[in-house]
Amino acid sequence: MKPLGPIPAGYEAIDGVLAVAGRKVTDLVAEAGRTPLFVYSRDLLSARVAALRVAMPERLAIHYAVKANPYQPLLKHMLGQVDGFDIASGGELEIVRAVGIDPARVSFAGPGKRDAELEAAIAAGVTLNLESEGEASRALAIAERLGIAPRLAIRVNPDFDLKGSGMKMGGGAKPFGIDAERVPALARKLISAGADWRGFHIFAGSQALSADAIIETQGQTLALAARLAEESGAALPKCNLGGGFGIPYFPGDEPVDIVAVGAALAERFADLPEVLQDTAFCIELGRYLVGEAGVYLATVVDRKESHGETYLVTDGGLHHQLAASGNFGTVVRRNYPSAIATRFGEAVEEEASIVGCLCTPLDRLADKGGFPRADVGDIVAIFCAGAYGASASPAMFLGQGPAAEMLV
Ligand SMILES: *Cc1c(COP(=O)(O)O)cnc(C)c1O
Repeated sequence: MKPLGPIPAGYEAIDGVLAVAGRKVTDLVAEAGRTPLFVYSRDLLSARVAALRVAMPERLAIHYAVKANPYQPLLKHMLGQVDGFDIASGGELEIVRAVGIDPARVSFAGPGKRDAELEAAIAAGVTLNLESEGEASRALAIAERLGIAPRLAIRVNPDFDLKGSGMKMGGGAKPFGIDAERVPALARKLISAGADWRGFHIFAGSQALSADAIIETQGQTLALAARLAEESGAALPKCNLGGGFGIPYFPGDEPVDIVAVGAALAERFADLPEVLQDTAFCIELGRYLVGEAGVYLATVVDRKESHGETYLVTDGGLHHQLAASGNFGTVVRRNYPSAIATRFGEAVEEEASIVGCLCTPLDRLADKGGFPRADVGDIVAIFCAGAYGASASPAMFLGQGPAAEMLV
């Protein structure tokens, strides 16, 4: 048997059935009218932000990275929770505007911004995190044509990366951000061109579980921001410290010690260099805020044996949960937390693999896990489905189409 990842806190059994926000998933599936279904919990979303606020210094604003989950009801809920939103495309700009998020609370990073996207963002008053000198020139030209002082920040390609992170975003050659040594010259140019100077965005990596690694990176980020601000010769209004807080997906993973991270940051904030005294700081988090608040539900359509192995074949699959299948940036495939939702909390009776309905051997949601015996009609749950699920999976593969989604 292969181990399963740890089921996040906040999920319980009612009459032997997995419940989210006090409601049995069988009732939620009945309400949605179908599986596959993603369910996101308001309570878990709110609790996560509240815990973060307690742990972090008050001076630190918390932003949500929309790409982790752009489901509109969830975004609307987050509007009352976080201080700002980070988007990475014109499509995400349309989504945040559709749910009524004030563009002044939005910043826009991401390489390859087209002119139409730059124009929409500048006209709306969104802060652009510029990814290159070329993008800076295009933004300035568009702003001049519109007669607007654009809100511009520079995304810095730092000369370090977040250790132990699942996805490295800084250090060495990258399509993201502007190499640190070229940043001061560009900052001076933007300021003298009359831009509304918003400062630096420094994102060094994702999915780190080690508080020590995050603390070290935040220290390097603050030092780099101070040095670049000095060299730019201008006060730094804002500094986005990136994020990178991971969640436990796999057996043996431990949650980030946010209390330690917050305490270290508070110490640094108490002892900032002169040039950062009046800077507003934020972090931008995606999966940490929403990942554990979501669960993916699929119905067992078939139960079969092959060469002594048991397969629970579901109506879901990697077309909604690419990450759980191990095909979204993971090197070694390991099991996400998963369970038989209709026999939640029952003892392990057998080894089985939960697979999807796609005609590819990649479509495996749990490999040789230990589960209570499940049969056709049972519902399986894949946890940690709140981030990089529905919107980060190839829903149209094999003509399957999207899963249902629900916020409870
Ligand atoms: C993807 C991304 C995030 C969110 O990453 P998570 O691992 O989900 O927290 C934040 N900022 C930037 C610039 C990103 O590209």
